[in-house]
Amino acid sequence: YLRLEGLAKRFGTTRVFEGIDAEIARGEFVTLLGPSGCGKSTLLRALAGLTPLDRGRLVVDGRDITALPPQRRGIGMVFQHYALFPNLRVEDNVAFGLRMQRVPREERQRRVEEALRLVELADQARKYPHQLSGGQRQRVALARALVVEPHILLMDEPLSALDARIRRHLRDQLRDIQQSLGLTTLFVTHDQEEALLMSDRILLMHEGRILQQGDAEALYTRPANRHAAGFMGHYN
Ligand code: ATP
Ligand code: MG
Repeated sequence: YLRLEGLAKRFGTTRVFEGIDAEIARGEFVTLLGPSGCGKSTLLRALAGLTPLDRGRLVVDGRDITALPPQRRGIGMVFQHYALFPNLRVEDNVAFGLRMQRVPREERQRRVEEALRLVELADQARKYPHQLSGGQRQRVALARALVVEPHILLMDEPLSALDARIRRHLRDQLRDIQQSLGLTTLFVTHDQEEALLMSDRILLMHEGRILQQGDAEALYTRPANRHAAGFMGHYN
């Protein structure tokens, strides 16, 4: 459904990633797993159209979207840091993308309420971001991404700033929402446990390349090489 073909990106003379080939099926939850600095956020931003690629093609449902601007890609994104507007109420943060699309007010209200209900924040709509917990803020960010009804959801370490208990809860909630919507999802983390527990499939990334792809069992029990083994927790 989503195909990445030969994606490459440099900043100046620094190679961030190269030769990225992958396919994600419709409704699949795929995790991009790799250590800090391996290029995960840059790759996600390039998929969302927020940073240009040097080489390669992005194909969604047979359609080349490489040259489309971000708002026309049908991709929703949740960032590593909440990136909410501090001076807007929760409901207005969520409504932001709909305003940009000039969706009429009544429909906007209805869709914002629906999105907030989905993330179980219907009762927090009038609050400002600073009045919410980290977990609640990240759920607002999720509602804001979902309200525009994207075909593909990208999430960049949405749980990494949260404490362990909230993290586990939100992990399950995320997965429930993703499955109920049948939403094609690419989830980024550097946390092996999170990747192993959540994913239909994992792309293991190392120094700007995909080292191995497979389901949790394959990656855990049959790491492709020493780097993969080390990162999956098999120290030698
Ligand atoms: P983390 O797990 O810490 O978030 P990451 O895998 O998301 O790491 P990226 O943020 O994609 O990694 O960064 C990959 C590499 O690209 C790093 O070496 C980083 O220094 C470099 N980089 C990222 N953004 C820029 C930029 N705007 N200009 C120059 N170099 C950059
Ligand atoms: Mg990152």
